[in-house]
Amino acid sequence: MSDFKKLTKEIIAFRDERDWKQFHNPKDLALSLAIEMGEVLEHFQWKNTEAVASHVRDHREDIGSELADVLTYLIYLADATGIDLIKATRAKMEKNAKRYPVQKIKGKHTNKYDKK
Ligand SMILES: [Mg+2]
Repeated sequence: MSDFKKLTKEIIAFRDERDWKQFHNPKDLALSLAIEMGEVLEHFQWKNTEAVASHVRDHREDIGSELADVLTYLIYLADATGIDLIKATRAKMEKNAKRYPVQKIKGKHTNKYDKK
């Protein structure tokens, strides 16, 4: 079993041991995911590039904790909607590989030439 699948199982078990699934509807999970992402963004708000670098150095554990909250809610939302995150991400990567072929896009971030 992959580390990601093992982690997902642990996170789901944590929820189920506390009987929290009853509260985990997709709408509230999506809101919670966005709220936790907001907590990540607070670490970067109003800081210039140098201030961000020093803040990350000094608050890596706190930022990691917020990223963990994001990942946890993402896993709960995927579970509540029956979405296999690994499958969905692989499918998206395949689409992105076609949309952004290396030979055309390498080293560029502004080329949005193919929106299909
Ligand atoms: Mg948080």
